[in-house]
Amino acid sequence: MDSERLKENVTVTVRFRPLSPREIQRGEEIAWYADGETIVRNEYNSSIAYAYDQVFGPTTTTRQVYDIAAQHVVSGAMEGINGTIFAYGVTSSGKTHTMHGNQRSPGIIPLTIKHAFSIIQETPSREFLLRLSYLEIYNEVVNDLLNPAGQHLRIREDSQGTFVEGVKEEVVLSPAHAFSIVAAGEEQRHVASTNFNLHSSRSHTIFTLTIESSPCGEDNQGEAVNLSQLNLIDLAGSESSKAETTGLRRKEGSYINKSLLTLGTVISKLTDEKAAHIPYRDSKLTRLLQSSLSGHGRVSLICTVTPSSSNSEETHNTLKFAHRAKHIEINAAQNKIIDEKSLIKTYQNEIRSLKEELELLITDPERLEQEEEDEEAKDALLSQIQSLTKLILVSSKSSHQSDPGRRYSFREDELAYLPRRKRDLSLDHENIQLNVTLDEGTETKEDKKIKKSGLLNWLKPQKRDALTSSSDKSSGCTSVSESRQDNEVIQEQINQKNNECKGLEETITALKHISENTIINNSNHEVDIEIEELKQKIVKLTESKERLETENQRLKEENSYAKELASAAAVELKILTEEIMKLMNQNEKLSGELAAHGNSPRRTTGPTKNGHRKSVNQLELLKREVAVSKERETAYEAMLSEKDERESELERIVMESQEREAYLENELANMWILVSRLRKSEGVENEIDVSESSKESGFEI
Ligand code: ADP
Ligand code: MG
Repeated sequence: MDSERLKENVTVTVRFRPLSPREIQRGEEIAWYADGETIVRNEYNSSIAYAYDQVFGPTTTTRQVYDIAAQHVVSGAMEGINGTIFAYGVTSSGKTHTMHGNQRSPGIIPLTIKHAFSIIQETPSREFLLRLSYLEIYNEVVNDLLNPAGQHLRIREDSQGTFVEGVKEEVVLSPAHAFSIVAAGEEQRHVASTNFNLHSSRSHTIFTLTIESSPCGEDNQGEAVNLSQLNLIDLAGSESSKAETTGLRRKEGSYINKSLLTLGTVISKLTDEKAAHIPYRDSKLTRLLQSSLSGHGRVSLICTVTPSSSNSEETHNTLKFAHRAKHIEINAAQNKIIDEKSLIKTYQNEIRSLKEELELLITDPERLEQEEEDEEAKDALLSQIQSLTKLILVSSKSSHQSDPGRRYSFREDELAYLPRRKRDLSLDHENIQLNVTLDEGTETKEDKKIKKSGLLNWLKPQKRDALTSSSDKSSGCTSVSESRQDNEVIQEQINQKNNECKGLEETITALKHISENTIINNSNHEVDIEIEELKQKIVKLTESKERLETENQRLKEENSYAKELASAAAVELKILTEEIMKLMNQNEKLSGELAAHGNSPRRTTGPTKNGHRKSVNQLELLKREVAVSKERETAYEAMLSEKDERESELERIVMESQEREAYLENELANMWILVSRLRKSEGVENEIDVSESSKESGFEI
């Protein structure tokens, strides 16, 4: 029972986009299609099929998608139940078209804003406060799109749950105000990225409306306030990493895949009663959404896919992801669908053969002779196609569709920030016109083939979608007026084709005249060869032009990618530098503390980290070394001064002894003088002796 309720809270839908004009021009086939309201089936292997809560065909409008995949989430959020809506799919499958849309076809974000304000209008008993934030996750880094300074934001947790620290929240006053805020956020995304397409395909954007409400009136003091968050998320492209060639690109891809992979696991665990642990913490995206996803919040996963054969594998991956997110059995109701599927086949074959017949009629020059007959046959074919198409579309009408138009009507200026409507082929005959004018005159056999299959492909999604709606009477997806519109569009397409045929016929007749003339001039063959050569040249030129364009595009992407990486590296570097500065400061502080503890270096045994202890020890060693050398220095100095002292002492002693010597010599001399005087005074008798002894002593007196 509980798991049923959990399951009900998660809605998984698949939305097909129409084949693009380019895909049609390339002659691509339809590989996957909506088989009924809940099943997607493979065109080439009908046993491959997946069931979902709802499958939207290529002609479904975003408003219809909104009614089934978003409306209940938004109204729940206005009543205090958290809600999250995701657009998941490969690049160019229609995520942004679904979430933002364009002026002609507003996406889920503008529709939500309108819906929220209409609920406020219809709930006079309560008062509301709405706040809006707009974030982006790129390479697992959270950036604020409403505040250029809000980069590398952190996800924190408190008793209320997870939140983004320092995120800018704008209080919303009116729908127009909300649109202007979103427009500013989009502007910021464009400014911040060197290559917007590349950037947007690799980033997740999260639009969050925080809703508070309380009963109106004076005496509502004690009443609890309802608080809820509504997240509308345009996810990064889910393309597989096989296209990622370089290591760095792989890293970036793995970031994207990490978030998407975790998201898949989280959503599938939300629908599984047995799941005990939900790995919200494994990626930034799921961590940020933890509060909204857990509990009884409502979740809607809209998986966008292209039917085209060239993307078949990627589409299959998306379908598998969506299926994992919510496992829905293909039940007995399938039988009914299979019956209708065979109706589709019948219808499909009939249209195909009618179209082929028509093409044959137009292009076969042999039949030009019987122009009148052909005109009739053509008319017959066209009216057959028309009535068949009409029949199906009429049967798809459902009468009890309420008119949600009023609730979502936009003032002309409100959606001015959105791109003008892109020309999607299923509703725009101008594209067909373009193809025709391009092909005219230079058409080769191959071109004809492309055009043929292109036309068939164009019809495929239309009729399938039409039948899809007819398969269930309670559908209510296609309104009467829209069916009629579609009819008119198809009618116009057919008229267009008709005109094109006429144009071609005229060209062929003209060519025939020319060739007839040339036959007369006997140079028919040469002209034919020349025409053929020219055609081949054109084909070659077109091919090489396309090649060059793709190469150019690739180089541009590489270039801007490199720039982005460089700026990412600069940020990394800055962080590292800050980290180093911090460590250095810490070191300084530690050594300061050490010094404060005096000269008793002890081994730290506390909770110091290894790195710190190591550096402290080194510091101690160095200090000791310095101290020892200082000691030695003072010792040397002492010895030096001692030596100096001794030297001067010795000098002094030498001086003294010299003085003494001089003194003694003086004394001696004096003594000799005395002696000689004494001898003189002793008299004559010793005269001879005195003279002899003076000779002996060697002194001259
Ligand atoms: P994504 O955001 O997944 O990369 P986009 O939303 O930018 O893809 O769609 C790629 C192109 O296809 C755009 O030109 C868009 O207008 C067109 N497109 C996508 N989905 C639809 C649709 N359901 N109906 C008409 N055109 C669509
Ligand atoms: Mg996009």
